[in-house]
Amino acid sequence: MTINHDIGIIGGGVSGVVIALKLSEYGIDTILFEKEESVVNGPPFCHLHAGGNLYPDISDEQCRILLKQSIEMARLFPQSIDERPTFISIPKTEKYAVSQIENRLDMLVDYYKTLIAEDPENEILGAPEHYYKLYNKADLQILAEQPTTAVPNTADEWMCNAIKLIDYNLLKTPVILVQEYGWNFFRLGAQAQLALNSSKECNLKTNTFVTDIKDVRPKKLDHNWEIHTKDNIYKVKYLVNSSGFKTGEIDNSLHLKSERLIEFKAAYVSKWQPISGLIPELIFHGERGTPHGMAQLTPYRDDYYQIHGMTNDITLFNDGIVQSKTNDAQPEFRSEIEQKLSRAWTQKDIETRTNNAIAFVGKFVPSFKSATVGGPPLYGAQQIFGDDPNLRVGEVRFPSKFYARSEIIKASSALTVANQIIEKIVEEGIVEKPLKELPTALLKSISKTDIDALAGKFAVDRGYPEALSKLVIDK
Ligand SMILES: Cc1cc2nc3c(=O)[nH]c(=O)nc-3n(C[C@H](O)[C@H](O)[C@H](O)COP(=O)(O)OP(=O)(O)OC[C@H]3O[C@@H](n4cnc5c(N)ncnc54)[C@H](O)[C@@H]3O)c2cc1C
Repeated sequence: MTINHDIGIIGGGVSGVVIALKLSEYGIDTILFEKEESVVNGPPFCHLHAGGNLYPDISDEQCRILLKQSIEMARLFPQSIDERPTFISIPKTEKYAVSQIENRLDMLVDYYKTLIAEDPENEILGAPEHYYKLYNKADLQILAEQPTTAVPNTADEWMCNAIKLIDYNLLKTPVILVQEYGWNFFRLGAQAQLALNSSKECNLKTNTFVTDIKDVRPKKLDHNWEIHTKDNIYKVKYLVNSSGFKTGEIDNSLHLKSERLIEFKAAYVSKWQPISGLIPELIFHGERGTPHGMAQLTPYRDDYYQIHGMTNDITLFNDGIVQSKTNDAQPEFRSEIEQKLSRAWTQKDIETRTNNAIAFVGKFVPSFKSATVGGPPLYGAQQIFGDDPNLRVGEVRFPSKFYARSEIIKASSALTVANQIIEKIVEEGIVEKPLKELPTALLKSISKTDIDALAGKFAVDRGYPEALSKLVIDK
């Protein structure tokens, strides 16, 4: 059986779903293929990265792009944004200077002000003058003596709750509290899936693996590509490759050369004893890939915490980054990593790496050493186009006519990529100008109750505690 659509999208990660939703809003006929049983089911994300403050080594320009793109995405998916701030610190042993981060924060405040001047609804990170606050040692000593607040409202209340737990003698001062928020990928996936299910324009095909693509452009038919799955062939005029770290497989199928890295990483789920007040995300900077890489503690509900440790024994892996070859656009991991990617983690590996992660954070938060394994790791692979492993902002490329390839690195770039693809589709005459947005705003029509229920189901179905699908600061 053959089925015709204007646009065919391969991959229902954050990039594919945002492209499909935007196309739906313009009434453009689309089919989206996702091999898993639900969308946004690939590598996790838990930080919005609104300002790139978790990366001391990236350029100011990348930080500005991350801020702008994060705000755009947070406006689309407000129910997935966890509005708790982030504590940022530099251990005394590390090379980074606090002044370096402070200068960048000042630049970001100015840029945030211009974004708000362009559109007041961009003010989703609070007032710009409160985007960040510095605390010197004397401030910390005073705050450490103040009572804990169950649900903090001010920067000082958040800092007070955090600093009681942290051995701040190990840290350079000042330390920073910044409005870098959490991002819940179960909730984003739930909102996107519900919206796509209610779209008349998008045919969402979950549990559907694309096995091959045939380029029929030379035949001058009314379609340009034939997308093959196990049971069907789908004819489309325009092809979008948003298959994440598997992007090279589609390029191979089209005989296109492209250069990319893919990186495997994992974050760990732990459970701690109840503490009396909410805490911000905690960041202890360090040089990535060394035994003293960054330590990150991300709070969730019900005493669950996610941990990243940017060392090869925790989040990163030996040979965890691999590169494409001249005649093969799809890099391949060694077999142990491939096994982990296909969910074959041994219990021993889960325990060893999660316990390494707990001990790593415990250096700075001594009482956290009592935490235990709280669930399976959150892991996955992501692509980085080209050969620079430090790149954090990816984009879209149009390697040939009627073909777009999404190359996002951070989830926040998804909307920019979707908008660029729509422009190209119009430019290449696939749909007629001018595009008109349909009156129903698909994403806005989805209720919080429905997102809560489906996000919880996603978490449980994928083997994680339901608490991971909830926001610390409920809206
Ligand atoms: C451990 C870890 C932590 C991360 N944390 C963050 C974070 O905090 N913030 C952030 O912004 N980013 C984070 N990232 C990066 C983020 O996960 C990626 O940027 C994002 O998921 C990429 O989205 P995507 O849609 O391009 O690809 P993916 O999410 O990989 O989606 C691709 C989809 O295509 C499907 N697919 C592939 N091939 C086929 C086929 N042949 N047929 C049908 N379907 C197919 C896959 O099943 C998948 O669902 C993290 C990544 C990792 C690994």
